[in-house]
Amino acid sequence: MRRAAIISMLLLSTACASSGRFDSLTLSSLVQIHAAHGLIRPEHRVEGSEYLGLLQDLVAHARATGHRVVAADLCEKFADDCAAGDVVWGFHDDEDPDTIWLERTANANMMAYTLAHELGHHYQPAALNQREANQVFADAVAVLVCRGAGLDVTSSSIAYLYGQHARDLWVLQYYRAEIDAAVAAINKDVRR
Ligand SMILES: [Zn+2]
Repeated sequence: MRRAAIISMLLLSTACASSGRFDSLTLSSLVQIHAAHGLIRPEHRVEGSEYLGLLQDLVAHARATGHRVVAADLCEKFADDCAAGDVVWGFHDDEDPDTIWLERTANANMMAYTLAHELGHHYQPAALNQREANQVFADAVAVLVCRGAGLDVTSSSIAYLYGQHARDLWVLQYYRAEIDAAVAAINKDVRR
């Protein structure tokens, strides 16, 4: 089955309707949000292109860690998902682990968030390989890298995690040190 080969996929359902926003996030606050508001479905799409510099820095980090970054029409690759109304913003699979794919029509801020997420997979603990819980790890890394650069993707991340990975939010606490280490490694290439 195709999905079995995908170790990284940022697939956001358009079924996630907007109902709230959060201005700031720490990993612990996301856990608290999880406990208090299990039905949150905020806006999932990141707008704007002010963070093109962040995107460029993340591309540089991807290259420094042995990846090539390719922008493509992912609806051609994931026709079934697109037909169902979902958007695949990026992916990274174990058939070609050196390539990170990004949806070419995404704006720079969404691409930066997506690339930070895919880079999060590069640093995920081996115990999370081939597990859906790896998406929580990757997205936590992405939220923190983006926030460090001033780009708030909290509401998008919450929509994604609650829409598809709510059962795996334990990763935020269990792998907190590994998440912080991944963020620090990526941030070495992010200009302030
Ligand atoms: Zn992923």
